[in-house]
Amino acid sequence: MHRNALQKVNYGVLYVVGTPIGNLEDISFRAIRILKDVDWIAAEDTRRTQQLLKHFGIQNRLESYHDHNKEIKAPILIRRLISGQDIAVVSDAGTPGISDPAYRLIREALSENISVVPVPGPTAAIAAVSVSGLPTDRFVFEGFIPVKKGRKSRIKSIKDESRTLIVYESPHRLLKTLRDLQSVLGDRPVAVCRELTKKFEEVIHGTISESIEIFSNRKIRGEFVLVIHGKTGKKA
Ligand code: SAM
Repeated sequence: MHRNALQKVNYGVLYVVGTPIGNLEDISFRAIRILKDVDWIAAEDTRRTQQLLKHFGIQNRLESYHDHNKEIKAPILIRRLISGQDIAVVSDAGTPGISDPAYRLIREALSENISVVPVPGPTAAIAAVSVSGLPTDRFVFEGFIPVKKGRKSRIKSIKDESRTLIVYESPHRLLKTLRDLQSVLGDRPVAVCRELTKKFEEVIHGTISESIEIFSNRKIRGEFVLVIHGKTGKKA
């Protein structure tokens, strides 16, 4: 493994391990090996990770690490890394650090010159943009648009963006977000990607207004990624 000059050889390694966003077959051989070999797995949702480990016959120690305990848990995990233990951080689903609390642990590990090693796996954003049919040569990941404070200004800030936009959204706010996007960005091509890699996977290609119509007439369930065409200067 490559370490830079500052990284301490006797420290443990923090592995940032991508796990499936639905379909368990999307895990990598390397992810399975690392999850077996490390001293600890820091998991956003220990119950969900336990199921994943069980599925692959992995027995290892789990430490919960999520949004509500990250201030307390990050220093504990950092101390273990400094004492030479290897840790794999995994999120609820997908790639740790992408719109989830692993970011803080990764940043703190780097500030202590601990090696941080990626073990790449699925990410909902990339899975969505890959099937969107919208330009993929340049795109911008916007994560979640703020629910209240800063919502308007965030949407305004992407109005003139010409690159393809990727937005995460929960089922409860899907319609509101589509409507808010339409009112500021105008009616643009969008791919609404739902439950990717899961049983009810669905990708709806159309315009924002068409998506609003479709989702206004049904119960909205599942996890969503919106992939929105960047500004073109032309009407959608
Ligand atoms: N770290 C994750 C990743 O790599 O994509 C993202 C974590 S973020 C807290 C959770 C959001 O990701 C969901 O609200 C949804 O927007 C998106 N997401 C995760 N899994 C998904 C799936 N299977 N289909 C569609 N969107 C998904």
